[in-house]
Amino acid sequence: MNRIEKTLSLSVVLITWCQTSVSAQAAPVSLTRLDCGTNTTPTDVGARMSDTYAFNGLKVQLTFSCYLVRHGDDYMIWDTGNPMTAGASAPKTSMVDLLAQLKVTPDQIKYVGISHYHGDHTGQVSSFPRATLLIGKGDWEVLNGPKAPGVNAEPFTNWVTGGGKVEPLPGDRDVFGDGSVVVLNTPGHTPGHHSLLVRLAGMGPVLITGDLAHFHENYDTNGVPTFNTDRAATLASLDRFKKIAANLKATVIIQHDARDIGKLPAFPAAAR
Ligand SMILES: [Zn+2]
Repeated sequence: MNRIEKTLSLSVVLITWCQTSVSAQAAPVSLTRLDCGTNTTPTDVGARMSDTYAFNGLKVQLTFSCYLVRHGDDYMIWDTGNPMTAGASAPKTSMVDLLAQLKVTPDQIKYVGISHYHGDHTGQVSSFPRATLLIGKGDWEVLNGPKAPGVNAEPFTNWVTGGGKVEPLPGDRDVFGDGSVVVLNTPGHTPGHHSLLVRLAGMGPVLITGDLAHFHENYDTNGVPTFNTDRAATLASLDRFKKIAANLKATVIIQHDARDIGKLPAFPAAAR
């Protein structure tokens, strides 16, 4: 080995060592499910949840799930569920009170990621006025446009009026810049719908659907609800999401399907 070769091989060793030490120092990431309400009885999903008349008479227990992601010393909320005023399907405990049990205050939440503008995902967003709002650009434009059916802009007043920071997302967003928490562009249910990828050191990658699918049977058969804004976009998003799930060998969690609650440790425990 001549001197140049020796220098080169030493450099390779050093670069490899540096890369290893960077990944060894990566911020620890954890994921906690927060209960954000539950329907009192199983829902007949044949009625509105299939535009091909599938699932006639099938009843599925639907729930409302929110999540807390911890990345080092930073916190992110994913979806804010039903409001406390949602009657029988309202959360038993508010997100603020659930976070208090984890010794986390609303002011510590750096980002609040919203999968889409439907009221059962946005009900408690106004509890986090200091957080930067991450929301699909297509949904943000609807929230800022003329009043539309099924769109409740009121909880977003803080951000719509310029009182809080907002990042309207035209595509994916690598939230902490290290690939561990990525908001994925999965339009179709609404124009700017997004899903979430969280890569945990122990449990491995976790994919959280948003409303890309509401229950297992629709996910498994690429079913499309009657009220989605774009059928073709929904199918393309399902195709992408399923390929990511397969390539990463990810755990897929359908937020509304009560059968998926047990895929994460029960509150207050976190998946790591
Ligand atoms: Zn929805």
